[in-house]
Amino acid sequence: MSRIAYVNGQYVPHAEAHIHIEDRGYQFADGVYEVAAVWRGRIIDEDGHLTRLKRSLDELHMTMPMADRPFAMVCRETLRQNRVRDGIIYIQISRGVSRRDHPFPENVERALVMTARAVDWPTDADDDSGAHVVSVADIRWLRRDVKSISLLPNVLAKQEARDKGAYEAWLVDEDGFVTEGSSTNAWIVDGDGKIVTRQLDNNILGGITRSTVIALARENGLEVVERPFSLAEALGAPEALLTSTTSFVRGIIDIDGNQIGDGTPGPVSRRLRGLYLDYCRGAGSNQ
Ligand code: PMP
Repeated sequence: MSRIAYVNGQYVPHAEAHIHIEDRGYQFADGVYEVAAVWRGRIIDEDGHLTRLKRSLDELHMTMPMADRPFAMVCRETLRQNRVRDGIIYIQISRGVSRRDHPFPENVERALVMTARAVDWPTDADDDSGAHVVSVADIRWLRRDVKSISLLPNVLAKQEARDKGAYEAWLVDEDGFVTEGSSTNAWIVDGDGKIVTRQLDNNILGGITRSTVIALARENGLEVVERPFSLAEALGAPEALLTSTTSFVRGIIDIDGNQIGDGTPGPVSRRLRGLYLDYCRGAGSNQ
């Protein structure tokens, strides 16, 4: 079946979907995006993704290109036209097309693009083989809380991970603390058995999966502490794990070749993965 993309008000064949060369997303990475998982036809944490999208836009002094109801309808129509019941929806909004010049152009329509594709989601908490991770320096800008399409440092980090046979790169700041992964949030279980993930501020993206997993953990009596942790602490931790919209929850089995725990996803990682999969099966949104 041929894929369909939504581009500025029209549903067009994916292969023919184009944006102008003077779109500011292309010229300046002047735009934001979202990726949401679709599970049995339902957009997981739709409200959370919409809230983050609006916040990212606001930080770039932009607004939504349309009201919430038509926006939700375009999301559903894009999924429908692509016959995606399990998969992802990708949404990108840029400042639009204008003669190349740094200041914001006036009276320019924002460009809205959506695509969807099918993904076979995991269904079993125990089918996680565990992820290899490598550490790289975090060389990004200081507004990592904005889900900007400017992803070059993330792309370079992910490629370094792939070149070294790893699934993810953990980004490490100047003081030796892990900020997050190149496209995932970073977690450990510390020596006291507490689940640790870095607190929300400008240094990391506030992952939607992160906030759902924190809520699920706490609802189920597990203690979560939001604080920085160093790479050294992670290397000695009983467990390490990662979360994202497309990775869900995955255990980490080694970092830079150092085995974590017994070299398989640990019990807390598996528990959180199970809770998250149950959440996807049942709820669509906890917002
Ligand atoms: N950090 C970064 C840098 C990311 O790109 C992502 C994926 N968007 C995440 C964390 C995880 O966020 P989410 O759970 O919303 O997918």
